[in-house]
Amino acid sequence: MSTIAESFEKVSSQIKEACDLAKRPVESVQLLAVSKTRSADEVREMAALGQQAFGENYLQESLDKIVATEDLSLEWHFIGPIQSNKTKPIAENFSWVHSVDRLKIAERLSAQRPYYADDLNICLQVNSSREESKSGCLPEDALALALKMSALPRVKLRGLMAIPEATDDLAKQHQQFREVRELFETIKAEIPEIDTLSMGMSDDLIPAVEEGATIVRIGTALFGPRNYNQ
Ligand SMILES: *Cc1c(COP(=O)(O)O)cnc(C)c1O
Repeated sequence: MSTIAESFEKVSSQIKEACDLAKRPVESVQLLAVSKTRSADEVREMAALGQQAFGENYLQESLDKIVATEDLSLEWHFIGPIQSNKTKPIAENFSWVHSVDRLKIAERLSAQRPYYADDLNICLQVNSSREESKSGCLPEDALALALKMSALPRVKLRGLMAIPEATDDLAKQHQQFREVRELFETIKAEIPEIDTLSMGMSDDLIPAVEEGATIVRIGTALFGPRNYNQ
């Protein structure tokens, strides 16, 4: 087996293990393969294993890759910080955007989503750990923003995305994910259609799934360490 195939098996079995621990059906968690900095050929190799959904952070790099793999009809998710003058190509080329953190971005995506495309799935990114360096709205602003976003046409609010503070402390990982899940439940009480909790990366996917993640965003554990100098 190639390295990518081995990693794919390993990540899939970690998701299954976490679902078993949490007594959740394995279909309740979707794997998003984060392919930033990876080549179109690496995406093809992963797609050949049955992976459909890919996540990207950098717009130009992702547009090149989307064109280069057009024949595969993959599902592309934008997960990086968004400048408001870059929303149009995102609205035109992606199925999902996880990193919507202010109303202006949601409004622009709504206005710029092409009429012929399905509604764009969006998640509100929450800065759950309140780190200065991180994108995302503050937890206390999330409900009001979600209500406004859920009323926009051509975008469909699916739920929340969060990147909690990196830590090796498993108990802290659980606690941070639990807080995001509780915020999700509070918002779901007002907007029952939301169904997505995007949280968990290579180093913390098991606690994320145990605490209720429905999409885990995995790069390094699938493709190996990133090389930004290529
Ligand atoms: C890069 C990235 C990931 C993947 O991180 P890994 O640690 O490589 O799994 C997930 N989510 C976001 C928003 C990212 O930018």
